[in-house]
Amino acid sequence: MAIATVNPATGETLKTFDALGDEQIDAAIGRSAGAFRELRGTTFADRAGWLRAAADLLDAETGDVAALMTTEMGKTLAAAKAEVAKCATACRFYADHAEGFLADEPADAGAVNAVRAYAAYRPLGPVLAVMPWNFPLWQAMRFAAPALMAGNTGLLKHASNVPQTALYLGELFGRAGFPAGAFQTLLIGSGAVERVLGDHRVRAATLTGSEQAGRSIAAIAGRELKKVVLELGGSDPFLVLPSADLDRAAQVATTARCQNNGQSCIAAKRFIVHTDVYDAFVERFVANMSALTVGDPTADGTDVGPLATAQGRDELDEQVSDAAAHGAEVLCGGRRPDGPGWFYPPTVVAGLTPKMRMFAEEVFGPVAGVYRAESYDEAIALANGTPFGLGSNAWTTDPDEQRRVVEDLDAGAVFVNGMTTSFPELPFGGVKSSGHGRELSAAGIREFCNLKTVWVG
Ligand code: NDP
Repeated sequence: MAIATVNPATGETLKTFDALGDEQIDAAIGRSAGAFRELRGTTFADRAGWLRAAADLLDAETGDVAALMTTEMGKTLAAAKAEVAKCATACRFYADHAEGFLADEPADAGAVNAVRAYAAYRPLGPVLAVMPWNFPLWQAMRFAAPALMAGNTGLLKHASNVPQTALYLGELFGRAGFPAGAFQTLLIGSGAVERVLGDHRVRAATLTGSEQAGRSIAAIAGRELKKVVLELGGSDPFLVLPSADLDRAAQVATTARCQNNGQSCIAAKRFIVHTDVYDAFVERFVANMSALTVGDPTADGTDVGPLATAQGRDELDEQVSDAAAHGAEVLCGGRRPDGPGWFYPPTVVAGLTPKMRMFAEEVFGPVAGVYRAESYDEAIALANGTPFGLGSNAWTTDPDEQRRVVEDLDAGAVFVNGMTTSFPELPFGGVKSSGHGRELSAAGIREFCNLKTVWVG
C-alpha cells in the first residue's frame, strides 16, 4: 500500500510520501534508545508537565488536526474534533494518575525475611506501535500517553493512508517538551515492521488492527520473545431483551453501528433481538438507520461520511451481496451509490445464517445484521458464537438479567443499557480473536513495564 493521503470523499490523491530506508529506520531506533536513557533521568512531574503541554497543543490546534483526519480517512469533522478533545483528556488523565498507577507495591517484608520488599514498575524501553487509520489520533494516543508517562519511548508505524496525521503525532510530543526522539513516526510500509521489531533495541510492540496483522506481529514477537499487546477486530453483539427501553435501544443502536462511518472495532455489529420485541425494535432501528444523512464529511448535517478506502467499501459491498445471494433480507440500504467517493448507505440485513460471510466476519462499515433469538439462552449463544470477543452490549432493565449478562457474555467489555465506549478510566481490550492485553486505565500503563521485585535484607 502506498504511503499517501487520498481523500475518501473524492478519491483524489492529495499527497504521497517515500518510505524510510533501512539506514533511516536504524537511526530512528537509535534516537529512540537514546531518548529512553534520557527519560530515565526525568521525574513523573517532568513528564506530566510535557504531557499537559501536549494536551494544550491539541486543544489549540483542534480545527487543523480534525480537518487533517477528515481529509485522510473521511470521518465527519464533528467526530474528528471530538476525537482530538478525547486525546487531550487522555493526556491529562495520565499526567494526573501515572505516578499513582506505578507506585511501588510494598510486600510483607517479614514474610519474605527482608528488611524491605516491594514490587516496582519500571519502563521497558522503545516500544513499536502499529496503528490503524480508523481513529488515527486516538488509537495512537491511548498508547503514547501512558507509554511516555511510564518512561518508555514510542516508535509509531501508522497506517499508510494517514501519513499526515502520523507526522503531526511524530512532532507533537517533542514540541510539548519531551526529549527529541521520545516519540517518533516511522513512515514505513507493513513489510518493514519485522525489521523494526526484530531490532534488539526495540523491547515490545502494540498493534491495533486486523486479525491478520495481529497474527503476523504476534508471530514476529514470539520469535523475538518480545511482549506484545493486540487490539484486533470485533463483531460486538447488541442484545435487546424483552424489558429493554426500545426507543432508547434503537437510537443508541444506530449510533453504535454508524459512528465513525461504521468503522470502529467496538461498533455494535450484530443486533440480537428477543422474539418478543423483535418486530418493534427492528421497525424503530430501520427507521433510524434510514433517516441518517450520508455525504460530505465536512458538512454540518452529515451523519455518515465515506468509508476510508476503496478496498474497504468493496469488501463491505461483497459481504452484503453475499448475504443477499444466500437468502438474507436487506431491510434498508444495501446499494453502493454511483459517483465519486467511497460512500455506502446505512444498511440493515436480517435472516443471516452461518453460510453467509456476515455471520462470522467483522463488518467494517455502516451495515447491521439483525438476528431473532427465541430465548435469553439463544441470544447468549448467538452473541458468543463468533471468533471475536471485544465489546458487547445488552439492553435490559431486569436487575437479575443485568447480572447474568455480565457473567455470560464472552467479551472484554460488557455495557448494559449503553454502547461500548473507551474511557481513560476503564481498561480496554478483548479476548479470543480480538486480541490480548489491555489499554487505558492502570492496566494499560502497566503493560509496558518491568514489574521488578525488590528485596532488601
Ligand atoms: P490492517 O490491520 O491491515 O492495518 C492496521 C495497521 O497494521 C496498519 O498500520 C497496517 O499498515 C499494519 N499492518 C497490516 N498488515 C501488517 C502486517 N502483516 N505486519 C505488520 N503490520 C501490518 O487493517 P486495514 O486498514 O487493512 O483494515 C482491514 C480490516 O482490519 C478492517 O476491515 C477491519 O476488519 C480491521 N481493522 C480493525 C481495526 C480496529 O480498530 N480493531 C482498525 C482497522 C482495521 P499499512 O497501512 O501500511 O498496511
